Amino acid sequence: LIESSLATRQDNMQSPTIEPPSIVTREYLFDYLIVGAGFSGSVLAERLANQMGKKVLIVDKRSHIGGNAYDHYDNAGILVHKYGPHIFHTNSREVFEYLSQFTEWRNYQHRVLASVDGQLVPIPINLDTINKLYGLSLNSFQVEEFFASVAEPKDQILTSEDVVVSKVGRELYEKFFRGYTRKQWGLDPSELDRSVTARVPTRTNRDDRYFTDSYQAMPLHGYTRMFENMLSHPNIKIMLNTDYREIEKAISCRETIYSGPVDEFFDFRYGKLPYRSLEFKHETHNTSVHQVAPVINYPNDQLYTRVTEFKYLTGQEHNKTSIVYEFPRAEGDPYYPVPRAENAEIYKQYKALADDTPNVHFVGRLATYKYYNMDQVVAQALTLYKQVSSKVLGRV
Ligand code: FAD
Ligand code: UDP
Repeated sequence: LIESSLATRQDNMQSPTIEPPSIVTREYLFDYLIVGAGFSGSVLAERLANQMGKKVLIVDKRSHIGGNAYDHYDNAGILVHKYGPHIFHTNSREVFEYLSQFTEWRNYQHRVLASVDGQLVPIPINLDTINKLYGLSLNSFQVEEFFASVAEPKDQILTSEDVVVSKVGRELYEKFFRGYTRKQWGLDPSELDRSVTARVPTRTNRDDRYFTDSYQAMPLHGYTRMFENMLSHPNIKIMLNTDYREIEKAISCRETIYSGPVDEFFDFRYGKLPYRSLEFKHETHNTSVHQVAPVINYPNDQLYTRVTEFKYLTGQEHNKTSIVYEFPRAEGDPYYPVPRAENAEIYKQYKALADDTPNVHFVGRLATYKYYNMDQVVAQALTLYKQVSSKVLGRV
């Protein structure tokens, strides 16, 4: 082997000038430049590389993959979610089975308490919430009557205030929703689409789970490990700490998939789309348990909206415990699109522009300005993949 490689080298040395010029066999270095290594970007990278053999460069300006679902072991060795609690739940078998290729799961049903009138009571509001709050012992039928007696019927349910007040009346709305929403969004519930508070149901039974989806589980070894498995393919190159604008001119690629904020992509041509931000305050406590529930919501009393204790979510055993407080902010990293009519109008303009931009696909919570959960983003990315792949196959 050594001899033959030496021989080749000598041949090369003897005739350097008649070597043919290196032939560029690919028109592009990459088939796809993917901006953002969160759920949307990672699903597309994985599908395009694994299913179609495409060459993909995935770029993220952060120092890690996973987007907002990123988790890591903190200084105490406790698995925490850097950008706040992420609980996986879905009714889509397709999404669950897709992700199951990259992770095992830990069964987990999420539960939340709200701190109201000096008590900790279940949220979503259920039979036990009402009985505890008012010192009653109603049954399911009686609590239904109770809700009917306090509800303020509305002809049209348009806003996030209407949703709640029409179901449980003004007093419960003020105790559980008004303060929390004003804090979280910097807007009154009457200024937000109904879809925001409609995420939280009202129950007349004792079911105290936050979600009732058919699949509810946490990735057994964490989200980041799941993303590592998704992106571990020789055709996928990952570039971190890089804003795509720094490299887009230098990297040739056939198409772009963009999962950052859509207004930023178009240099804010139609003005800024509001995205709500959060500041996370992480703490580790020298005790094995900090609070009595995985998440406690503080609708009225504090500057933060909720406190999460991660060990409940992950099942990790440790003699210390880590928690995170969420402080809503107007400025900072974009986390939530703000669902209300005037923002939908601005987004409509960007969407028209996006649809008219050849060879760029927009996907995910920031690029399509949708208050999507993780599973909805995965479903959206799988749909985009199907569109892209059928177009490519159609071309062949
Ligand atoms: P992201 O995860 O935001 O990924 C986009 C990536 O693009 C980011 O990493 C960003 O750095 C990168 N990027 C942006 N611009 C550029 C650029 N110019 N150059 C390079 N990179 C760029 N969902 C649930 O299902 N369950 C939950 O319990 C849940 N809890 C949540 C709690 C909080 C506090 C938040 C904020 C969200 C929560 N979500 C939850 C929603 C979930 O985070 C999102 O649905 C999902 O992470 C969106 O994925 P994405 O890929 O669209 O966006
Ligand atoms: N909400 C509230 N009180 C609560 C929980 C939720 O007012 O105790 C409202 C609030 O407007 C919040 C929205 O319902 O932003 C959606 O709640 P969810 O827990 O789904 O928020 P996320 O986990 O997406 O931050």
